[in-house]
Amino acid sequence: MPFPYKKLTEDDIAAIYAITDKDRVILGDDIPSEYYHDEMPEYGIFRPDLYVEVLNKEEISEIMKYAYRENIPVTVRGAGTGLSGGATCKYGGIMMSVMRMNKIFPIDFKNQTITCQPGAFLVDVQAAAAAGGLFYPPDPGEKTASIGGNVITNAGGMKAVRYGLTRDFVRCIEAVMPDGSIMQFSSNVVKNTTGYDIKDLIIGSEGTLCVLTEVTLKLIPKPTCSCTLVMPFRSLEECADMVPQVLALPFVPTAIEFLERELIDIVEKTLHKMFPVKEGEAALIVMYDASTKMELDEAVRLAAESALAHGALDVAIADTAERAGSVWAVRGAILEGMKADSVSQEECDVVVPRSEIAEYVKQAKKIASSYGLRVEPCGHCGDGNIHTELLRGKDQTDEEWHSATQGALKELYALSKRLGGQMSGEHGTGNGRIEYLKEFVGDRMISLYKAVKLAFDDKLILNPGKIIEFNYTSYT
Ligand SMILES: Cc1cc2nc3c(=O)[nH]c(=O)nc-3n(C[C@H](O)[C@H](O)[C@H](O)COP(=O)(O)OP(=O)(O)OC[C@H]3O[C@@H](n4cnc5c(N)ncnc54)[C@H](O)[C@@H]3O)c2cc1C
Repeated sequence: MPFPYKKLTEDDIAAIYAITDKDRVILGDDIPSEYYHDEMPEYGIFRPDLYVEVLNKEEISEIMKYAYRENIPVTVRGAGTGLSGGATCKYGGIMMSVMRMNKIFPIDFKNQTITCQPGAFLVDVQAAAAAGGLFYPPDPGEKTASIGGNVITNAGGMKAVRYGLTRDFVRCIEAVMPDGSIMQFSSNVVKNTTGYDIKDLIIGSEGTLCVLTEVTLKLIPKPTCSCTLVMPFRSLEECADMVPQVLALPFVPTAIEFLERELIDIVEKTLHKMFPVKEGEAALIVMYDASTKMELDEAVRLAAESALAHGALDVAIADTAERAGSVWAVRGAILEGMKADSVSQEECDVVVPRSEIAEYVKQAKKIASSYGLRVEPCGHCGDGNIHTELLRGKDQTDEEWHSATQGALKELYALSKRLGGQMSGEHGTGNGRIEYLKEFVGDRMISLYKAVKLAFDDKLILNPGKIIEFNYTSYT
């Protein structure tokens, strides 16, 4: 297919050197292969033509102006921990890393906000908030993701049940547009109905609309105490049935996760992280935060009683940081464990209404086994976001694996839709799910997506080929 993009010339390289610095640019085959993919190499391996580390918004603006004029594709790279094949140069061109722009500015206590550059690590933003006695709650599994990546993918994570998503904490955004102009979206205000809410469109846009250069995030008072409960059950389905029971209690849980014994065994065997509860074929992990010990004790008591009344084999209460740490360490290592225990993985990230979690799990297992696939549904069951991991066995040929996963994914997405769910709860579309999106959302929605993309990026130079694919000869 003929693409309208210009192949980088010596003049283009000289122009990028002039805007930045030779020491921050790597060319062609010298670019380390880690930049050819994100955490899911299965979703495409693409070598950028030029990799550059930018230091400020002015450099970004100059690069974008140049790329816009010369028709050169640009893809922004955060920490590269994405799970959708998003931060890759599908059509070559420039990969622009924002990881050196990692300043975290002092907390604005009057507004209870913190402002950061995009390359700050999530873990450092959380620590900066805590150092000021405040709390930044979004808690995706990967703490070394960049805060810019979190905002642009609208990262979810464990604590979404109580606190919400990254989106719920974004007050305002500064960004560079594909033509190089620098814009501010909203300001440090609590409400805003001024015009269309473009800030919210940018959150979750996966680097296809603009380059995030600064973000201001809401902070909240820190909970003073927390407790994690582990409820072993006979099956994952029983865990799923327990979720609405926990949600019906008068205390809002911070997190509700589930995992099967097989997955716990994988993490214990491959990564030597030991799960403290041995009984049961599956475990439901429930966490509560509270501002008083009395409130916490009451929440824990009610949840434990409810679990035992609904078939839990036991309830283990991890009420010290060390005990809770050993539970969450196993939960946090699932992806790494699965990678160590299989040749490759396919990541299905559907989200279904909470009322349908048990039905989804039951049907998903049937679908995967009808294709001869090993399946591990796990993860954020408290918000219906079930990571349905398909694992490739040693004996499967490329062809067997691809045709089985394609067939299974189609059925899993159709199942999610039938149950009133969505295709992706938090990992996004990127390059990895693009072929399924059109069928899921339909033609009218795709044309709306295209209109949005063109309104921001009329030359389609920013992260092209992600979320939606255009016919590049006619731009339709
Ligand atoms: C072990 C593990 C656990 C995870 N757990 C979770 C989880 O619980 N919840 C969850 O939501 N995700 C999770 N993720 C996925 C991943 O960490 C998130 O998607 C994260 O937000 C990506 O941030 P990043 O800095 O790595 O972005 P990258 O992977 O570098 O980029 C992701 C996308 O954002 C774009 N982008 C990055 N920075 C900018 C910017 N400044 N401006 C414009 N575009 C930009 C890129 O072009 C790309 O399309 C997990 C990943 C791993 C490996």
